Amino acid sequence: MQTSFRNIKGTFDVLPHDYTAAGNQTYGSAAWLFVERRIREVFERYDFREVRTPMFEPTEMIARGVGETSDIVTKEMFAWTKGDTNYVLRPELTAPIMRAYLQHRLDQQGPVQRLSYIGPCFRAERPARGRFRQFHQFGVEIIGSSDPRSDAEVVAVLMAVYGAFGIKNLRLRMNTLGTPEERAAYKAALRTFLLPHREALSDISRERLEKNPLRILDTKLEHEQALLTEAPVLTDFLGGETRAFFDRVCGYVQDLGIPFITDPKLVRGLDYYAHTTFELESEALNGALAGAGRYDLLAKDFGNPNPVPAVGFAAGMERLFVVLNDAGYVFPNPLTPDVFLVAMGAEAENWVFRKAQSLRTAGIRVAFDLKGRSMKAQMREADRSRAPFVVIVGDQELSAQAVNLKNMAEGTQETIPEDRLLQKIQSLNHHPS
Ligand code: AMP
Repeated sequence: MQTSFRNIKGTFDVLPHDYTAAGNQTYGSAAWLFVERRIREVFERYDFREVRTPMFEPTEMIARGVGETSDIVTKEMFAWTKGDTNYVLRPELTAPIMRAYLQHRLDQQGPVQRLSYIGPCFRAERPARGRFRQFHQFGVEIIGSSDPRSDAEVVAVLMAVYGAFGIKNLRLRMNTLGTPEERAAYKAALRTFLLPHREALSDISRERLEKNPLRILDTKLEHEQALLTEAPVLTDFLGGETRAFFDRVCGYVQDLGIPFITDPKLVRGLDYYAHTTFELESEALNGALAGAGRYDLLAKDFGNPNPVPAVGFAAGMERLFVVLNDAGYVFPNPLTPDVFLVAMGAEAENWVFRKAQSLRTAGIRVAFDLKGRSMKAQMREADRSRAPFVVIVGDQELSAQAVNLKNMAEGTQETIPEDRLLQKIQSLNHHPS
């Protein structure tokens, strides 16, 4: 079979089975459902409630929220205009969730909202291992609390997700970005320091020097990193309150027994962060598993008269899969049918067609052939389906109102009255429903 069409570069299809494409191991839908279910279980244990927002949002909102100078907004948006409205496929979910929180006055539902999400995001990045144009993020937001225990709670639930899959060897880096004023003072000092070295900087760093010099600290270029060893450090620009707050956050994370390192060079790409910021990395992967932080000022950027304290994390599903793959994680097999119905002859086919429906209505997972093939071909199909039981009927059985029930694991077969079939399958059926 063939088609002249392909899925768009940087996207992928989730199929019933696992496959490899462009160097990426793509897991089947059963693995996705399993991972999503496990993430949701952790979120529920930590008392988060799921929110679902639209796949697209007003471009102005995302630009304001994520930051006009961020890579996402300047380079990576899938955006379009229809009529006089600008739309963008959501590149992340923190801004949409803050919009929803403010729009629906979620503060009236309780002073602290603990919200979670799982869903697709879109960024026009260069595809690579673990980097896609349509990818999936899961995350949480705690909105309404400026207590440093909230920051620690976000760390805790993030680590609990990876813990639920038994993943070890992760590196948690934490930092504080301070208040906007502290950051502004530091930005100015960093710019003053870097200006005389302007010619030595890469094009991208030179651009950042104008717009957002903090981002230069992210550089992967060795000569720039060397230059930065002499640069002023953010820590020196932080006031007592900021330091005390960060110390308390770190203290709470320590209380929970979660290992981390503090890294004064950790700045995150998104503009809305203030105070706590953290990132989770794995040795297996070039790129972060999750990014997180406090963003008390986002609500004000969205037009709320006052800041609303908020902190959250966002993690990539595909990167979780990369780490699981590297760890040799074994996913449960897809569910098999409880029973496969095999028909011999036209009348038996009709009987199977109707019986399948009545068994399914009674809660049994049923499969049968839709091609009118030979009994041998149907048995092969039954084998492939891995159904533990196969019912075989022909005209003879039907006139005797009986069916043959084959136990595939034991290779045994018995004849039972047709009207006892449901009861029999139910008694053999031990899968949890
Ligand atoms: P960010 O909002 O950029 O901090 O992203 C949060 C997390 O989402 C990252 O740590 C990644 O795990 C994941 N992520 C971001 N961009 C991509 C992408 N293009 N492909 C796959 N995962 C991504």
